Amino acid sequence: MPLDHLAVYLSNSCNLACSYCYVAVNQGPAARLGFEDIRRAVDEFVARVPPERRKITFIGGEPLLDWPLFVKAATYAREAAGPGGILQTFTNGTLLTADKAAFFADVGVHCTVSLDGRKQDNDLHRVYYKTKERSVYDDAMERLRPLDKSNLGVSLVFTASTVDRLLSNIDAFHRMGFGRVTFNPELYENWPEDRIEILRRVLKGLARWYRALLDAGARPPQLQILFAVLEAVENEAANPGWWHDCHNMTLGPDGKYYSCDKALSFPVGRAADLRSGDAAGGMDWEERQRQLDDPTAFIESAGEGAGHIFCPIGVVDHARHAGRDPGAALKNFRRVADAFGDGLKELIALCQGHPVYEEMYGRADAV
Ligand code: SF4
Repeated sequence: MPLDHLAVYLSNSCNLACSYCYVAVNQGPAARLGFEDIRRAVDEFVARVPPERRKITFIGGEPLLDWPLFVKAATYAREAAGPGGILQTFTNGTLLTADKAAFFADVGVHCTVSLDGRKQDNDLHRVYYKTKERSVYDDAMERLRPLDKSNLGVSLVFTASTVDRLLSNIDAFHRMGFGRVTFNPELYENWPEDRIEILRRVLKGLARWYRALLDAGARPPQLQILFAVLEAVENEAANPGWWHDCHNMTLGPDGKYYSCDKALSFPVGRAADLRSGDAAGGMDWEERQRQLDDPTAFIESAGEGAGHIFCPIGVVDHARHAGRDPGAALKNFRRVADAFGDGLKELIALCQGHPVYEEMYGRADAV
């Protein structure tokens, strides 16, 4: 899959400590990118990727913790990527202000707020790093209250224990006025079979809910995850080995490039074997490919080489570095990812052909 995405991890610091955080925030040595490293990475990315395919994500840790750096980095990325480049960021919402939202609108940065649902589900896993008794949901909602949410996205992570309420949480965000919604399962926990069945059932309900909104003439929220599924289905049909070539370029908060973003779930230095150059000297593309080829060969030899909706490479890398059985992790990932992908493909089949659906998902500015 050709390169089209640069993920810039601005720091490994966060004011929250979510239980499932996919980055080792507030652990090990603190790391924070300087502007020069960001500039070099953006330059290297745009030199390799044509304007119509450029997507740059600013992430962390919490990317809004150092607002002056964010402004400098996003302004530079907009100039370098051009007017058609997609810029996006994911924030926990507790530091949002009207001025920051105005900056996103001016520069063209798609902002997605990470919230897992209403208070009960959000505060189950999303807690402050220092003041655990304070509600993250209440604080984020207070920040969001005066903002125009039609320009904002919301991203939910659901787990085996919160999957039952996924649809009602998505519906709640839709009623609050969020223009975009995305959601992903926690893929590293072990999902018992009965919870996977519930996931399948909930996704059938989601498909019916979405179609009903379309039929009622309402504009449903754009489901960002559908773009990933649509792309994966297309790639899978064209080439079942599409995931062998990663489309992401990942710059860690330590200024090093990593072959897979799963390396960042370990404290800086613990997955050093997944580094492939740095922003100062440039990406070592051969080393990156070698590191991708190794888990790819493992996945193929385990008989899991075809039919993937989501790239499985990171699961193997993550399990190996965590000292877990990569074969078992791969099987669990496959069960959850397949149930998730099947449900979303059913939603697509149910809604395809509706003019509003076609207008929303035929667009080039998928974020
Ligand atoms: S807000 Fe994001 S970066 Fe911070 S701890 Fe939670 S998941 Fe991790």
